[in-house]
Amino acid sequence: MKHTLALAAAFMVAAIVVPIALALQFAGQQARQDEQAYLASLAEEVLRRAVLTRQQIVAAVDAMQARADAPCSEAGIALMRQISMTSPYLQAAGVVRDNALVCSSLGVHEPPLALGTGQGRTATGLRAWVGVDLPIIPGQLFNVYSDAHGNAVIVHPEQIIDIVVRSTDVVLAVVVNDPGFVSRSRGSVAPDWLARIARSKNTMAAQAFETDSHTVVLRSSGEHNVSGLAAAPRSYIDGRMRRLTWIMLPIGLAAGLLLAVAVVLLARQRMSLKTELRLALQRKEFFLRYQPIVDLRDGSVVGAEALLRWQRVDGTQVPPDVFIPVAEQTGLIQDITRHVMDMVARDMAGLLQRRPGFHVSINFSALDLQPKGPIEHIAPLLQALQAPPGAVVLEITERSFVDASIARPLVQRIREQGVRVAIDDFGTGYSNLSALASFEIDYLKIDKSFVDTIGLQAVTSQVVPHIIEMAKTLGLEMIAEGVETQEQADYLRSRGVQFAQGWLYGKPMAVEDLMARVDACAEPSLAPADGDPAQRACSGNLQST
Ligand code: C2E
Ligand code: CA
Ligand code: CA
Repeated sequence: MKHTLALAAAFMVAAIVVPIALALQFAGQQARQDEQAYLASLAEEVLRRAVLTRQQIVAAVDAMQARADAPCSEAGIALMRQISMTSPYLQAAGVVRDNALVCSSLGVHEPPLALGTGQGRTATGLRAWVGVDLPIIPGQLFNVYSDAHGNAVIVHPEQIIDIVVRSTDVVLAVVVNDPGFVSRSRGSVAPDWLARIARSKNTMAAQAFETDSHTVVLRSSGEHNVSGLAAAPRSYIDGRMRRLTWIMLPIGLAAGLLLAVAVVLLARQRMSLKTELRLALQRKEFFLRYQPIVDLRDGSVVGAEALLRWQRVDGTQVPPDVFIPVAEQTGLIQDITRHVMDMVARDMAGLLQRRPGFHVSINFSALDLQPKGPIEHIAPLLQALQAPPGAVVLEITERSFVDASIARPLVQRIREQGVRVAIDDFGTGYSNLSALASFEIDYLKIDKSFVDTIGLQAVTSQVVPHIIEMAKTLGLEMIAEGVETQEQADYLRSRGVQFAQGWLYGKPMAVEDLMARVDACAEPSLAPADGDPAQRACSGNLQST
């Protein structure tokens, strides 16, 4: 019991905690995925623009190198205008002499526009002036790239990273892979990100990593030696997670509570029934009813089946179909069966001694047919009854015989003690008669569900003659269960079925009523003529014979 309680408590805690933990984990994962997907789309766009810009720079310089006219001639300026109009990422084309722009798409610059001293070379070998303030477009800084002949392009570096982003703390950057440096950025790129990019040897087209402060996503092009980078503070993931959590948590909580309630209800129901059953055994809330079994040939009562009843202290009755399965599941069935045997010993000793040939049937559950089970209780029962052999019949359900190697020796032990064996509920299990042929069995009980089909045009009514024939072949006597009509009784008798029980002959009754009935039938001369109910019950079913 303590064990069950602890288990139920553990289940309950798990039922609440697991769905919530799953919901939180899902929210966290989802938030991280969403954030990385967002940053990846930005990095891809940056990379796309950077690659396009590079391609347009190279194409423009090539076109200018190929011209025949003097660079700043009218034809030369026309070419530069055409280049600036057809290359969306180039602001203008121009000609550089001595660190100054002498002419451009805008015309000849008189005096030339000074660019400063230049700041190095690009990976493609172009000279670069970065962050130049050109008086022709004031207030903005440009990058100017030129080849050795002064064929130059003017690029607005911001344009590449001029992408609409969620907020100002999103970092965008174009990174030159080798040698690793940031060629332009919005927001600052931490040195340790560059170090990580360098360590990855630029071979990876895509990577994402988290630093203490940021989520960083990179999209690289090895061919163009350039990467697009997008990063955002990690607090965004936390924010997303919080929002998702607010959605997921109630769902997880609801699922958890529902599960927990189900677990508790189930555990309580099982535990309470088990506890109740145990208490019922102690408080002697069980008693037996006996249903007469008659000989179909002359209507005499030849025996009775002991059927268990449970009446709770509050007066309510629990049907055996409900509590027997619970007793089987909770391991109480053997105690109950032993109790039934004790009650039979107490109720039936007198009747069995007085009426040789009369028998009492006791139901054995499938779980009772085990070594050291209630079969050990047979000897004390017989001792108490002091009845002749054959006075006790054990009704064993068909499914008890499934494991033949265990069942066969047990059945043999039962019969060696002078107790006969009936297969109960025959036809409702999965075994067939021939499989049961290897057992020493005395009776076959034809289940009520088959008796019900007698006289109907149902396909299942074909089963009854079949069962009867098989039983005859195996030399078993038959007891038909649940006989309610004279028609059923007549049919069974005409087919050679020996015994029957059912409401036609009597419902399960108290032992005193059974005794009155048996004694009245056995000694008709002592009973008053007609008028007596016991006498009528005794022969009432024989009218049509
Ligand atoms: P069962 O062994 O097949 O018992 C026959 C059931 O059919 C009994 O129901 C009986 O009252 C009912 N019955 C008999 N004649 C008629 C009839 O003409 N019409 C109808 N409609 N029903 C009829 P009960 O007493 O409710 O028992 C139900 C089941 O509970 C039994 O089926 C048996 O499997 C189990 N059971 C009862 N007592 C015990 C017991 O002491 N030990 C074990 N292990 N199981 C028991
Ligand atoms: Ca039975
Ligand atoms: Ca039965």
